[in-house]
Amino acid sequence: LDVSDFLRQHIRTVPDWPSTGVQFRDITPLLQDPRVFRVLIDAFVHRYMAPGLRPDVVAGLDARGFIIGAVVAYELNVGFVPIRKKGKLPFTTVAETYELEYGSATVELHTDAISNGQKVLLIDDLIATGGTMIAGIKLLERLGGIVTECAVIVDLPELGGSAKLAQTGKPLFKLVEFD
Ligand code: IMP
Repeated sequence: LDVSDFLRQHIRTVPDWPSTGVQFRDITPLLQDPRVFRVLIDAFVHRYMAPGLRPDVVAGLDARGFIIGAVVAYELNVGFVPIRKKGKLPFTTVAETYELEYGSATVELHTDAISNGQKVLLIDDLIATGGTMIAGIKLLERLGGIVTECAVIVDLPELGGSAKLAQTGKPLFKLVEFD
């Protein structure tokens, strides 16, 4: 059994949540079992420990990207910066708004979170349409960061986000795919 199949077995699918027709991929069971949590974190740490891929800082997307990203950053012995939903960060921020199926969303980053030329690994739990990840990249790059790679637990390729991200030229590292 490889790591991808092992992790897949611990992702729960919740039908019709948060709305009818959506198959929500719930990663909380991966965190709950300490043995599985370690396999998950080690998969990222193993990759980003490699000298050519080691970032200067890890950025995590609100909110499940914080859980994974902070632990990975700690293990890599680099800092962690949160990209938050609008209205949560207290200091001066940069903001990016992106379109959702219904309406729009805004994410923010503290203006002093990234320094010019820093290599950033951007982490979230899942990529669907790619809007959140691409907004995160824009924020980091507005502050002079170099997003060397994006990483997720789950890619939902049918929703088009990984293809859209590929067009920006940013590599995506994913552990599990669901159709
Ligand atoms: P996107 O912007 O459409 O790529 O959506 C990705 C964002 O929405 C990420 O921050 C995810 O945490 C969240 N998300 C969307 N669908 C799911 C899902 O099925 N499971 C968990 N998170 C999801």
